[in-house]
Parts: sequence; structure tokens; C-alpha cells
Amino acid sequence: MIIAANFKTNHTRASTKAYLDDLSAFIESDGAGENRVMIFPPYTALDSFDLPSSVTIGVQNGYPAIKGSFTGEIGLEQLDEFSISTILIGHSERRHILGESQELIAQKFDFFKEKGFEIVYCIGEPKEVREEGIESVMRYNLSQLEGIDTNYEKLIIAYEPVWAIGTGLTATNEQIDETLSRLKEVVDVPLLYGGSVKPANTKEILSIKNCDGVLVGTASWDVESFKEMLSIAKGC
Ligand code: PEP
Repeated sequence: MIIAANFKTNHTRASTKAYLDDLSAFIESDGAGENRVMIFPPYTALDSFDLPSSVTIGVQNGYPAIKGSFTGEIGLEQLDEFSISTILIGHSERRHILGESQELIAQKFDFFKEKGFEIVYCIGEPKEVREEGIESVMRYNLSQLEGIDTNYEKLIIAYEPVWAIGTGLTATNEQIDETLSRLKEVVDVPLLYGGSVKPANTKEILSIKNCDGVLVGTASWDVESFKEMLSIAKGC
């Protein structure tokens, strides 16, 4: 299983270091078993960390350029300095709050694919689309894969319904099961679920047939809560 933590705009450089120290000690005492752990801290916390081999540090975003004049953005040269080779692309907050188009998202995907990055690519429908039923949900989610090479061997897809992100609302097990099964028919890559995953629902979500892990926002920011989810995943 992959258990991933998206810090979003939370944690400082100092608190990220303290979090990772605590997490590493937990993993070294076999707290996470065979599971793979991914942490996506803010850019300002990037560093060269000494971590157990099951932990990967990735970034929440990146600009599709090695370097250049892209004010406020971070390119490959800055990521290489910290040996970053894992990236989140297409997160709904970047699509809906930052206004990223599918065209820009596909450009980022192509760039980081060409550089050999592992890509956690996010898709997910808004509430009104979910209310129209599964065929609309699939049409919407598949449209977010336009221009994306779904045969890329380092691709992981995170299905994160927009209405379930940061809202405390989780998709039902049936909705997750059906959507992941339908996705698996078209994309044969690891599939994560994201959207208000927390210790109380981790076990049932991880036991869904095509679910290869979870992408966790809010409930990952507290290291105790994240460690609890890792312990639960260890038993799954
Ligand atoms: C996310 O940001 O990817 C996410 C799933 O957030 P939350 O767990 O807070 O819903």
C-alpha cells in the first residue's frame, strides 16, 4: 500500500523536520510494515533528509522548466538540489483555486515524465457531477486524463472527489469501489483514494478491491494521526 501525506500550505521547515524525525523512528521500529510512505511538504521545508528507504519526499507542484524566468515557480534545477523525483500533478486545489488548465497540467506531466519523475496524478469530480451518477463521474474523470500518457510506468493515479477534499465528507465505500473499478478498466496503474481519509475510515478504504493506498491531507498534518493510519495500513 502507498500511504501519502499532502501537507498543502501547512508545516514550517522546523516542524517538517520534527515530523520526519518522529515518523522515521516509528517506521524504523516497524510501525509501518511493508507500506510505502510518501510525504509532500511545502517547498520551504525541502532538505536532504536521512530517512528510512520506505519514505519518499515529493513536491506538491513544479514548473515544467529546468530553470528560467517564471516568478514564484520552482523548476527542475531547484528540485534536483534535494534529489526530488516524485511530484503531485493535477491536484484539485491547483485546478480549481489556482486555475490550472488541463493543457498546463498535461505540459507538466510531459515534462516531469521526460525527466523520469514518479507522478502522483490527481483526478476527481465536483459534487454536481457526482449527483448526475457514475457515467458522468467517469466522463469527468477521464476528461482529466486528456493528454496524459496513462501507460507511463511511474504513474500513480489518485482519485479524489473534489467534494470530499478537506470537507470531512468521504465518498461511500460503494462509490469508491465502483469508481476505482471503472478506472482500473482503462488505466492499469496503482490507484489511490483521497478525500477526508482519517484513522477512523482508513481500514475500510484500504480494504476496497482496487485501492492501492490513500492520499491524505488534513489528517496527515498531525504526526500522531498519520502514524495511526500507518499502523492501520500495516494490518490491512
Ligand atoms: C488532499 O488534499 O489530497 C486531500 C485528500 O485532503 P483531505 O484529506 O484534507 O481531504
